[in-house]
Amino acid sequence: MIDFSFTEEQLMIQKLARDFAQKEVAPRIKELDEKAEFDRSILTKMAELGLLGLTIPTKYGGSGGDYISLGLACEELEYVDTSLRVILSVHIGLNSLTLLSWGTEEQKQKYLVPQAQGKKIATFGLTEPNAGSDVVAIEARAQRDGDYWIINGEKMWISLADVADNFLIFAWTDPEKRKKRDHSGISCFIVERSFPGVSTATIHGKLGIRA
Ligand SMILES: Cc1cc2nc3c(=O)[nH]c(=O)nc-3n(C[C@H](O)[C@H](O)[C@H](O)COP(=O)(O)OP(=O)(O)OC[C@H]3O[C@@H](n4cnc5c(N)ncnc54)[C@H](O)[C@@H]3O)c2cc1C
Repeated sequence: MIDFSFTEEQLMIQKLARDFAQKEVAPRIKELDEKAEFDRSILTKMAELGLLGLTIPTKYGGSGGDYISLGLACEELEYVDTSLRVILSVHIGLNSLTLLSWGTEEQKQKYLVPQAQGKKIATFGLTEPNAGSDVVAIEARAQRDGDYWIINGEKMWISLADVADNFLIFAWTDPEKRKKRDHSGISCFIVERSFPGVSTATIHGKLGIRA
């Protein structure tokens, strides 16, 4: 028989997310949504509660929670406004867990630790104006230049792009594989907002996830 009941820890995280969303966000979310305004202080509070590193091991600065806890926290945040849940999906799910799985130890120390502590905000840039589900249609490309990689391209629909410090950016590094639509010719780069040439722009007039 499988026991589907929640553990003490999972229930504690559920309550923490519920209390935060109800007390800190619910009273203001109508106004933020109407004005299409993102309130960065929400991130600071989420960081203080350990929500921004929920499933990242404690040795990398996270809270060490499991995926059920992440699901419960997402449910509670989504209940108040989907924009809050998106933060967890992107900052933790798409970026930080990718670093945890595939990053080198040096990359984890430099990027994952501050992200799990909520000191840095992170997102994931795969989608482009002409490439969504069909990922091999991306046009961004990266070329080696001495000790550097030069990345050229444009991404679109990148959650948190306006506020993120760190990005995972996907680009073709093998032009021959690109011709054959072989996805193994795509690489992923850690890009900091402060790197030369990085710019982001806000999409106005969205129908949802406005806050
Ligand atoms: C709220 C939100 C946040 C997002 N955040 C990010 C982010 O942080 N980072 C990022 O990289 N991207 C992000 N995206 C982009 C998202 O990943 C893309 O929207 C998604 O990959 C789908 O691509 P598309 O919108 O171009 O739709 P398309 O791929 O053009 O699909 C349109 C429709 O066609 C259908 N379809 C597509 N291909 C096929 C097929 N082969 N057979 C049958 N049906 C098909 C789809 O099911 C869909 O109904 C976000 C999108 C949203 C809505």
